[in-house]
Parts: sequence; structure tokens; C-alpha cells
Amino acid sequence: MPLPISQIRAVVGSDHLLTEPEELHCYSFDASKMSSAPEAVAFPADASQVSALVKLANSHRFAVYPRGSGSGMVGACLPRGGLVIAMNRLNRIVEIDTDNMTATVEPGVVTGNFQKEAAKLGLLYPPDPASLPFSTMGGNIAMCAGGPRAVKYGVTRDYVLGLEVVLPTAEIIRTGVRTMKGVVGYDLTRLMTGSEGTLGIFTRIIVRLIPAPESVRTLTAVFPKIDDAAVAVSEILKNRIIPSTMELLDQATIGAVENYLHMGLPVDAEAIILIEVDGPEILLDSQVEKIELVCRRCGAARTEAARSAAERDRLWRARRSISPALSRIKSGKMNEDVTVPRSRIPALIRAIRGLAEKHDLVIVCFGHAGDGNIHTNIMLDRKIEDERKRAAMAVEELFSIVLDLGGTISGEHGIGIAKSPFIEQEVGAAGLDAMRRIKEALDPLNIMNPGKMFVPDRSFLEGSFA
Ligand SMILES: Cc1cc2nc3c(=O)[nH]c(=O)nc-3n(C[C@H](O)[C@H](O)[C@H](O)COP(=O)(O)OP(=O)(O)OC[C@H]3O[C@@H](n4cnc5c(N)ncnc54)[C@H](O)[C@@H]3O)c2cc1C
Repeated sequence: MPLPISQIRAVVGSDHLLTEPEELHCYSFDASKMSSAPEAVAFPADASQVSALVKLANSHRFAVYPRGSGSGMVGACLPRGGLVIAMNRLNRIVEIDTDNMTATVEPGVVTGNFQKEAAKLGLLYPPDPASLPFSTMGGNIAMCAGGPRAVKYGVTRDYVLGLEVVLPTAEIIRTGVRTMKGVVGYDLTRLMTGSEGTLGIFTRIIVRLIPAPESVRTLTAVFPKIDDAAVAVSEILKNRIIPSTMELLDQATIGAVENYLHMGLPVDAEAIILIEVDGPEILLDSQVEKIELVCRRCGAARTEAARSAAERDRLWRARRSISPALSRIKSGKMNEDVTVPRSRIPALIRAIRGLAEKHDLVIVCFGHAGDGNIHTNIMLDRKIEDERKRAAMAVEELFSIVLDLGGTISGEHGIGIAKSPFIEQEVGAAGLDAMRRIKEALDPLNIMNPGKMFVPDRSFLEGSFA
């Protein structure tokens, strides 16, 4: 059935509705590089307009697809026809309450902008996905985004206190609290966080803030053997130091970045770890010394601590250059965000080397050693069918390996379309059925972001999404 365009226009106004194919094109993609067009895109101004759109969806039986910045990696916001509800006009930081260290924001606020406003008041909103300069708070909460700081500070779910949500049946509910404690009823805030736009559309968000750390120190450690690097990560924590960041670059990544930057990186080393500690200035020098000692005891060939902001910037340069460096290897990549218990990182990396050899692929690993989240990039040219097939086989085998190691197939990016064929492998048939029943209870007509999570779709793997 075609969309009731005039009724949608009556809700949001003609200035806030797109229907022309060339306008819709921008809303047909996310960072997964899959593509599928909506029939229209509406930009509501507030919760009551979102609710009115969802009401129309129920009465006319069309699908709605909530959208933030479209930076998701798994196709979670992609429409298949229907109406995209773009949340970008709800972009106000409503309040930063310094006394209670909480903030209330609308979902279209760009996360990095919010962090900067909090920082001006001496406060920190810790979740730090690399996409924070452009992804939205609504998208971050829907995907439970995380980043390098997770090792010390946790991920998005650890900071969400409460939500205002438009349910798939159009009612507006408030979940959670604005206090540090609150145990009334089921924890719907947690249920909604990470629900990937399938259970409700957030129109207001209450988060917890913490005092911003006084100072930061950065250092790197070069390890001839990757097993030693993994041991060092555990040893640092056992020595009662929790760094805010412990980023690992494997040998393939070091080589790719060196080819790109020519900055004299040790291409023979199996791993470099980039470590940051933050906290009271008075404690940090001794923490850096202790970390350097632990790393050397564990087999680091050398360590280097930054003595100035410029040196810190130089140490981060290799980490920041990974993406452009990889784009020189092949035109495309499958970026998997698998996560294993920290101690299993060497086993994972060895298994990945095996996969690369077996399937004749370049696979580059880097990521958050502190929390076991290793970004596994299978480099490929999507136009070469055979390479696509080999990459798809490697992904399937990678997921089995990760689950055997006690890990998860996604630490950050979520399920969406790209990982929908594998969700059952991790949560089991009964687990998936429980999730499906929650979805059916809240969205009986299946109008909110349908075709994700519960519908195994292999088109991403096969490169045939249209
Ligand atoms: C260069 C790059 C780096 C990245 N780095 C990281 C990283 O370090 N860590 C990480 O976790 N992710 C990362 N990502 C993935 C992505 O940025 C995150 O998933 C982010 O949370 C998506 O936010 P968005 O605003 O772009 O949401 P979108 O991509 O627009 O949508 C994502 C999901 O959220 C839903 N959604 C959006 N707004 C709402 C709302 N108001 N209510 C309900 N549902 C909503 C959508 O329906 C969809 O299911 C990266 C992506 C890129 C391109």
C-alpha cells in the first residue's frame, strides 16, 4: 500500500518531508555500504509528532525506520521502502545538571558535541565510539555504542538512566529514573538500550555524567611477540592500574600503517599497545613508570611515554591512521567487531592468521586490547565474486572460533542486517525466541524497523543487497 503522504505531511509540515528519489538517496545507506531506499523521509520536531507518525503507520500498515546519522556498520537503520523517521531535528541539550551530574538530551544531539558541552562544566560523558564527531545520542543508545575507554568506564548502557520512548503502538512512555538508584518495575531502560530501533523511538534521554579526569598520560609499548602483549595487558590490570585505553595494533596493521605514513614503525614487531591512564595528576607519573616496568618484564622490546601534547599526538598518529592506511590495501573490507576474554586475544589472532592463509585473504586486526574487542578487517574487492565468497566463508568461521573462545560476535556494532544470520548461533534458538516474543508483544503489527535481527538475511555476506 502506498504511504499516506498527505497525512504524513500534515504531521510534520511540507518543509520536513522528503519524497523525491534524489532526496531519498542519502537516506538509503549507512556505513555498512548496503543500500535500500525508503518511500519517504520525515523529520519530526517532537515526541508528539513521532507518535502521530507511528499511529499512522499502525492504521495504514507501513513500516517506520528510526534514523540518527546513518553511521551504523550493520545496516540497522536501513529502510526497505516505508518511512524513515529521521531524528535530527530533536537536537537540543535540554539540561546539564552539575549538582546531580546528570544530563537530559534529545536523541538527535551529536555525541561529540554533547561531550564538549559537558567538558566545559568539568564533566565527562565517557562513551567514546570513534564515530562520536558525527553519530547521535539516539543512535548510540539504540546500538549501545562503546569505544576505547570501555576498559575503564564501560559502554553506553552504563550511563543511560532513563528514556522517553514512543512505542511501536504509538504510546509515549518514560522509563528509568534521574537518580543514581531506582528499582521500580522491569528495567525497560536496559531493554531499550541496544534494541536497534526495533522496540521504540527515543525522544528524550537522561544520562549520568562523572567528573572529568584531571590529567592524562599516554605511552606505547612494542612487543616482538603478541602473546607477551596480551599477558602485559592482564598484568597491568592485576597491578591495580586500570588504564582508560589499551589499544592493540597487530603486525599486519603496523605494516599497513608504516606503508602509509613512513614514520619508522617497528614492522617486525608482532604488536604495539597504545596505553592511556587518566586521573589525579599526582598519581599519573608513577602509574606510567609502573606500566613501563610491567611491559618490559612481560617482554616489551621498548616503551615510550609522551612528555608533551605534541608527543601524545604523535603516539596516537599510528592508531588514527589505520582506516586510511587500510583503504590503500583493498577497496573494501568486512569490519567485524568480535570480542573475546582478554586472555584469549593471542589465540584469536593466531586463528585469524590461519583463516587468512586458508582463504588467501589479507586480514588486519587492531582494537581494544583492554576489553578483548578486536576489530578484524577482512580486506576485499567486492567486485571480485570469488574474493567475496572467500571473505564470507572466513567471517562464518571467525564467528565459530570466537564463540568457541567464550566471546561474542559483536562487541560494538550490533546485529542489524549484516549479522542477522548469526544471532541464533550466539544466543540459541530459545534465547532468540524469547527476544522475538518481546518484539511481538511491543510491536504486534511489526511496523518498527522490520526485517532486522530476527530475519536471517545473507544478502550482506553475498554482496547482493539491493
Ligand atoms: C568511522 C566509524 C567509526 C565507528 N566507530 C564505532 C565505535 O568505536 N564504537 C561503536 O560502538 N560504533 C562505532 N561505529 C558505528 C556507529 O557509529 C554506531 O553504531 C552509532 O551508535 C550509530 O549512531 P547513528 O546516529 O549514526 O545511528 P544510525 O546509524 O542512524 O542508526 C543506528 C540504529 O539506531 C536506531 N536509532 C537511531 N536513532 C534512534 C532513536 N532516536 N530511537 C530509536 N532508535 C534509533 C536506528 O534505527 C538503527 O537501528 C562507527 C561507525 C563509523 C562510520
